[in-house]
Amino acid sequence: MPIVEFKNVSRIYVSGDHEQKALDKVSFSLDEGKFVVILGPSGAGKSTLLWLAAGLYVPLSGKVTASGKVGLLPQQVQSIFVRKTLEEDLFEALPSARDAQGRQREALFAQRIAPVAARCGLEGLLHRHPFDLSGGEQQRAALAKVLLQQPDILLLDEPTSQLDPVAASAFLTTLSRLNRELGVTVLLVEQRLEEALPLCDRVLLLDKGRLAAQGSPAAVGQALCKDAHGMFEAMPTAMRVWAAVESGAAC
Ligand code: ADP
Repeated sequence: MPIVEFKNVSRIYVSGDHEQKALDKVSFSLDEGKFVVILGPSGAGKSTLLWLAAGLYVPLSGKVTASGKVGLLPQQVQSIFVRKTLEEDLFEALPSARDAQGRQREALFAQRIAPVAARCGLEGLLHRHPFDLSGGEQQRAALAKVLLQQPDILLLDEPTSQLDPVAASAFLTTLSRLNRELGVTVLLVEQRLEEALPLCDRVLLLDKGRLAAQGSPAAVGQALCKDAHGMFEAMPTAMRVWAAVESGAAC
């Protein structure tokens, strides 16, 4: 059974007397444990798709099914920090831990918080104020908060857009390990295709609200190249070299 399924999903935004179609009859289904990259030009409907998958929007028509607990990392992660130290903020993400004191709090820290903090590279930062962390650290801290809710499906909206290349690469590697080692299904909206595409096993390409292509990175790359689609220019260098040399080899 698919873990995420969209059947003919459409969504419009209404502002005043203007209607903007954000998604137009989008259908796809994803099996558990997949790492999916959603790509497309600005305004293509990528964020709308994530919000629908998270159950935060309802479709105008069609059906969205997500069979599992969903965790969404929003574009502006600062909005999810509420406490004075990162450690307190991580406790805040565990409803059972909010009032825990003494031994009980220590046990929860050891069993739940420390492993997630280690996975996200946050050891040594737990006593810092979340707003004093660097962009990359804040992004990893926000990821830890979402992971503490033990999601089966992780949705991320351009998490590396504000990060330098080194921090971005480290963040994407963490996501890939979460997917491989814990089996979390990942849906990632990402512009850094050079690094993100080699990590994923499925690509969804949105264009003007429609699902223009879907499949393996190679299949989508090949389709974009064949159609001379503008998004091919955003594909990883290796793919563009493949297209340029016309060797007859598989993409
Ligand atoms: P992307 O994430 O690919 O940039 P979005 O899903 O944010 O695309 O937006 C899809 C379309 O819907 C765009 O044309 C955008 O202008 C429009 N849109 C998004 N959010 C709103 C909103 N709150 N009100 C009106 N139009 C919106």
